Amino acid sequence: MSVLRITKHGEEVLKKPSKPFDFGAMKKDLPALLRDMWATMYAARGVGLAAPQIGLNVRVAVIDVRPDDKPQRLTLINPEILSKEGELQEEEGCLSIPGLYAPVKRSARVRIRAMDQHGRSYEVAGQGLLARAFQHEIDHLDGKLFIDRLPLGDRLKVSRLIKDLRARWA
Ligand code: ZN
Repeated sequence: MSVLRITKHGEEVLKKPSKPFDFGAMKKDLPALLRDMWATMYAARGVGLAAPQIGLNVRVAVIDVRPDDKPQRLTLINPEILSKEGELQEEEGCLSIPGLYAPVKRSARVRIRAMDQHGRSYEVAGQGLLARAFQHEIDHLDGKLFIDRLPLGDRLKVSRLIKDLRARWA
């Protein structure tokens, strides 16, 4: 199990849409990949991590928003959003843009379908932080960061902030 370096804003792998995970071809690599993703996410104190954040353009993400302070691990392989409802604007951050937080409008309730670590299809609904995490991580798999969801004026402000922050990133 390894804690991996998290890719940062500006790196190509975060801008590219990821390819579907192919269980036939990649199944044997999945346990190690997921172990590394969980280790990396927890070490960075994140609530979610997508494969492009460890340098892989494949549609795999992990989420644990720790409801009631207890672990609740969700493995999302080839996830898709089935339905969304409502709207909520809340502060959001990203392990790939450390130090930056901004309010982002997201759907308040989201239902997704994905495959788990065994390749079994499941559906799950989330609201609040979990709904936000679903949308944030699926955005990563589509090559988008949360700052791409900001209004133009905020994006300009944020790009200046990122210039200053970048000097501190590893
Ligand atoms: Zn992120």
